[in-house]
Amino acid sequence: MDIEEKIRTLQEKVESELGSCSDAKGVEELTVRFLGKKGEVTSLLHSLKDLPKEQKPLVGKRVNELKGKIQEKLEAALAQFAQKELAARLASEQVDISLPGKRRFRGNRHVVLDLLQEAIDILVGMGFSVQYGPDIESDYYNFEALNFAPDHPARDMHDTFYLNTETLLRTHTSNTQVRVMEACPPPIRVIAPGKCFRNEDVSARSHVLFHQIEGFYIDREVTLADLLHTLKSFFSKLFPNQELKIRSRPSYFPFVEPGMEVDICCFVCGAKGCPICKHTGWLEVAGAGMIHPEVLKSGGIDPEEYLGYAWGFGIERLAMLRYGIDDIRLFLENDARFLQQF
Ligand SMILES: [Zn+2]
Repeated sequence: MDIEEKIRTLQEKVESELGSCSDAKGVEELTVRFLGKKGEVTSLLHSLKDLPKEQKPLVGKRVNELKGKIQEKLEAALAQFAQKELAARLASEQVDISLPGKRRFRGNRHVVLDLLQEAIDILVGMGFSVQYGPDIESDYYNFEALNFAPDHPARDMHDTFYLNTETLLRTHTSNTQVRVMEACPPPIRVIAPGKCFRNEDVSARSHVLFHQIEGFYIDREVTLADLLHTLKSFFSKLFPNQELKIRSRPSYFPFVEPGMEVDICCFVCGAKGCPICKHTGWLEVAGAGMIHPEVLKSGGIDPEEYLGYAWGFGIERLAMLRYGIDDIRLFLENDARFLQQF
């Protein structure tokens, strides 16, 4: 076969093989097969050394032209496939920005703590300072110093969680009262917010854990009228958009004399009666009264010289009233569907 024929055959071979190539990888293989170190075109170039001297320049030129042409063709084919493959990859990796995203839920403060803080802010604005007492308390500060008789039913194991005979989980934040009296002389105007624990059956209306704000004011001329006015201003600030009706009923608590319970007219049902107000139209929100002389004495304050008032209210009860919730257990169940609405 003469050299011209070899060149033509090789050219045709490349074209036919290229025609059946389907991807860039195939073209790369062809490049190695024809133009690589041991490729067919390279071998042809090497075979020139056997030609007569005068033929070498002309034939060498023809083979080099062939090599250039083949190179050009293969490179063009490679570029074409590379572009096609890139376009296909871009299409397959395309992000559909119209798809709905995965929603992440942002945490928020618990509704009870939120309302507790709001109540604290209002009372601080009314001149009270905040004192925190311990959750684990002695029988003395929780009961004895607050004038509970040794056989008072609240001291029973059925009502209180005892850690041992002397130590218990406080049943009210009133445990802070005598601690504050011991630490600072009157006038005292303090609130004590925090957790309270009672050994109760858990139901829609009562729970073993709840939050309370105790408030008390001790000075030379403190009256029941001051107490009622303070509570009324507080509740009207907490429920600013409600037409607030408050009533008080005489009641007995060992640490106040006289003592009373304070009710708010149920605005969930407009006083018509609903599960939240036990169908009475009124919701008990606080226990209150004038601090008992024995309690002042426990705190080292002379009841002949000073008077004081005190109240305690439950935050969960207020949250139920504000949001129309009829089951106190919801606050502690950690159901995100419930908590996220606030
Ligand atoms: Zn009601």
